[in-house]
This record gives sequence, C-alpha cells and structure tokens, in this order.
Amino acid sequence: KLVLGIETSCDDTAAAVVDETGNILGEAIHSQTEVHLKTGGIVPSVAQQLHKENIQRIVQAALSSSKVCPRELSAVATTVKPGLALSLGVGLSFSLHLVDQLKKPFIPIHHMEAHALTIRLLNKVDFPFLVLLISGGHCLLALVRGVSDFLLLGKSLDIAPGDMLDKVARRLSLIKHPECSTMSGGKAIEHLAKQGNKLHFDIKPPMQRAKNCDFSFSGLQHVVDRIITQKEKEEGIQKGEILASAAHIAAAVQHTTACHIAKRTHRAILFCKQKRLLTPSNAVLVVSGGVASNLYIRKALEIVTNATECTLLCPPPRLCTDNGIMIAWNGIERLRAGVGVLHNTEGIRYEPKCPLGVDISEEVGEAA
Ligand code: ATP
Ligand code: FE
Repeated sequence: KLVLGIETSCDDTAAAVVDETGNILGEAIHSQTEVHLKTGGIVPSVAQQLHKENIQRIVQAALSSSKVCPRELSAVATTVKPGLALSLGVGLSFSLHLVDQLKKPFIPIHHMEAHALTIRLLNKVDFPFLVLLISGGHCLLALVRGVSDFLLLGKSLDIAPGDMLDKVARRLSLIKHPECSTMSGGKAIEHLAKQGNKLHFDIKPPMQRAKNCDFSFSGLQHVVDRIITQKEKEEGIQKGEILASAAHIAAAVQHTTACHIAKRTHRAILFCKQKRLLTPSNAVLVVSGGVASNLYIRKALEIVTNATECTLLCPPPRLCTDNGIMIAWNGIERLRAGVGVLHNTEGIRYEPKCPLGVDISEEVGEAA
C-alpha cells in the first residue's frame, strides 16, 4: 500500500508518500513562516495565495523524490479539518481534482488525528495510549483507543501554549534580538530562558484548583504582559526595545508553562489509570506539536511520566510540526483499519472547526 498525503491546513504546504510499513519514500514542504513573521501573524488570504502558488510543485516534488508513479498509489489522503478555511480549501480542491484524474480513493484527514498517530510510524505503540498535543493552534489531552477512536480528556479553554509564547515573544520584541531574530516565538523564549533566572519573577501556574485536565494560557499571557509594562517603566525604555530583564521573563514564563502542562498531564494519567483506561503495566504518553520540541517542557513531562511509571515518547521535531508524512501515514492507518476511505467524493467539504473525538472533559472534572 502507498499513500500520498497532502497538508495545507495552516501555513505549511506539505506532501509526502509513505508505504504500509512506515517508510517515507518522498516528501516536500514549503513553509510560510518567514512571510507570516513579518506581518506578526498569519493573514489567511496571504496563506491561501502561497498555498496556491506552491501546492502543485510540492506534490510533484514529493512524488518524484519517492519514485512512485501516481498510478501506483493506493489512495490520496488530505487534511480537511480543522484549520483555516482558505488554506484547507486549496488542499481539498487540488486533491479532489487529483483523485478524479487518477481514479483513486480519497481519505479525508483530521489534522489532530494525524498528529496523534504519527508516533506509530516510528515506534510500535499499541492502542490505547495517551496523547498530549501542544502547538501554536492546539492544546489537548486525549486517550487514543483506535485509529479514529479518541476520548478528549482536556483542552485549552482559551489559547494554545504556542500562541501564548508567540505573543509574549512579540511583546518582548525578540524578533529584534540579535540571537533570536529568525526563531519562532516559542523557540526564542526557550533560547533566551537559558540566560535567565526562572525564580526572578514569581508567576503562578493557571487553574491550580481546577479538578480537571483543561488548560488555560491567556491569563498567563496577561500577567506577563503586565510584568513587561512594569519593567519598561522601571528600566525607562520604550515599547519595542529589548528589556534588560527579558531573559528572566522568558525563563519565568517557560517555567510556569511547563508546570501547568505537566500538572494537567499528571491528572490525565492518574485519571486514566484509576479508570483502567490505560494498561497500568504498559502506559504510554505521546507528546507532539511544535511546543513539544521545548526541552524544558519535555523535562517537566519526564518527571511526571517517571513518577507515574509511564513511557514518554516524542516524535523528532520535523514530525512534531506540520508535515505531509503524518497525513500520508494517517491514510495508511485508515486504509489498514478500513475506515473513512472514500470512492465517491461527492459532498465532501472542509471543516475549519472540528473537535477531536468524544469530549469527556466534564466527566474527568467530576471524577477527579
Ligand atoms: P497547528 O496547531 O495546526 O499544528 P502550528 O503551525 O501553530 O499549527 P506547529 O507548527 O506544530 O503548530 O508549532 C508551531 C508553534 O510551536 C509555534 O507557536 C512556536 O512558537 C512553537 N514552538 C516552536 N519551537 C518551540 C520551542 N522550542 N519551545 C516552545 N515552543 C515552540
Ligand atoms: Fe499541526
């Protein structure tokens, strides 16, 4: 079995060809990050335009590097939810033309399902396992019971951690910092935090008393914002200049973020063990998403998994962030399980908003 995967849900145009055993035969990606860094965020119409300009070339590049001829493909898998409407639309209409031309089955993919299943391309991980997805657009804890069988245990009630880190980095003007000018917000915070003292500011983790596995990051963002405004006054500098205390702020916000994420994850592990949703002797926590590449946050999660006798698994950075490989692999998983493989694409639409699986986060709160 061979699947071509296509991803355009946000700001990366990506494609890949993967086989049944998880061999990555070919891949290509065009990132729009640099363009969007300049505008201080993603402008959907700009993202759409860039997807349109690149999709043909990227899919072609993935196919040619794989040396697989389109006739040999078993199916085409494409992200159709959730994401930016204008971006999803480009990938979907391209894919529908392609499957029509090639007369191949089409597999619509849920972007977060793909993130969650990526680990199975690399390691032998059996269902059920716990997954923590932390990125710029998402934040969730879920129990993965099967290829398309998810129990949502917790989610962010407001923004995602990567979004918060990006906002803090922007507020600190780290793009003007000589050492961090080309880094994403989260990466810049991690870099700068190494030079700071996390105890210099005492920032309380959010939701300390909430008995569930939900997250919140916007309160934290506002607290940090106030600290920055205060420091600008104290240091007598203008908004937009780099604070002398920027590294301490970065260290403190990273520490608080790590504590919050670790604490919510700890609760989810305990809940799953108590309810026997995870095999006690063989419990696995998979962490993925752009924020998962943060080593300080990973360390905090390692402490939690060690204490609860869980195995912590994390795909390498290029498979943590958006890519075509995970979409192609999700296609393979669905082909093997025989779920969601369409021979008729009539009426298929993209869905900008679409929760993952069955939401039991309220039950988790009651049980805890
Ligand atoms: P989606 O949520 O759909 O996956 P996305 O493009 O925001 O979309 P990713 O590409 O997975 O998600 O990750 C990007 C996010 O990860 C950004 O918010 C970025 O700041 C954050 N990030 C990247 N590297 C690090 C790091 N070392 N530490 C913390 N955050 C990081
Ligand atoms: Fe993603």
